[in-house]
Amino acid sequence: MALEVTRRARLLVVVIVVFVFGGLGIFLWLRGRQLKRAAAIQPPFAQASVTPVSPSPAAVAETPTPEQTPTASVTVTPLAAETPPAQSDQSPVNSAPFSGSSFVGTLKLIIPVVGVRPDQLLDTFADARSEGRVHDAIDIPAAAGTPVIAAADGEVIKLFQSDRGGTTIYQLSVDRKLVFYYAHLQRYADGIVAGKFVKQGEVIAYVGDTGNAGTGNFHLHFSIAVVADPKRYWEGTNINPYPLLR
Ligand SMILES: [Zn+2]
Repeated sequence: MALEVTRRARLLVVVIVVFVFGGLGIFLWLRGRQLKRAAAIQPPFAQASVTPVSPSPAAVAETPTPEQTPTASVTVTPLAAETPPAQSDQSPVNSAPFSGSSFVGTLKLIIPVVGVRPDQLLDTFADARSEGRVHDAIDIPAAAGTPVIAAADGEVIKLFQSDRGGTTIYQLSVDRKLVFYYAHLQRYADGIVAGKFVKQGEVIAYVGDTGNAGTGNFHLHFSIAVVADPKRYWEGTNINPYPLLR
């Protein structure tokens, strides 16, 4: 009799356990289905609302001038978008020649001396100079006092008197990746000061023979440096101006 009772009690416990866990299982299964259905509905909404929005903040972060006209951004954004990762991840020495090659296709320079034609230019970039140095620039002969004009738009960042270069100008490109250097100048044009933004073709100085040019050897010494840090404008890696001016 006592055995019969405990057996029934055990059976009851088993039945209760089966019901409770079974019910719980069914509840969880239904809940899972609900969540799945909700997840299946949501993605189209999420894609429709999120994807068009998210690229534009990214573009804002990468390019300083996203709200410019399409034509302006076509020339500016490739430079801004391509180069910063390379320069921030790598050392300036390694990245500079690499990023320099990407400028060649997009950079539109003019010959920075009035009246000089492309076919008159000589490639003197690899020429040897004193103390084992390489020229790393182009010399453009012209008569004394010939106007020197900005090769590209950009800010005049430094007017400097140097032993070798004589009277010189450092100009930073609009994308702040390149420094244009003009040397052996006779004098600066009126109103040219550090911090002044000049347009391409604007007269900034006059051809001279100052520094180590040699008396009467009137020419513009012009170089282009790729800089990792615009504040350290003298530390760039020079790229050959000749193919960019031809
Ligand atoms: Zn030179």
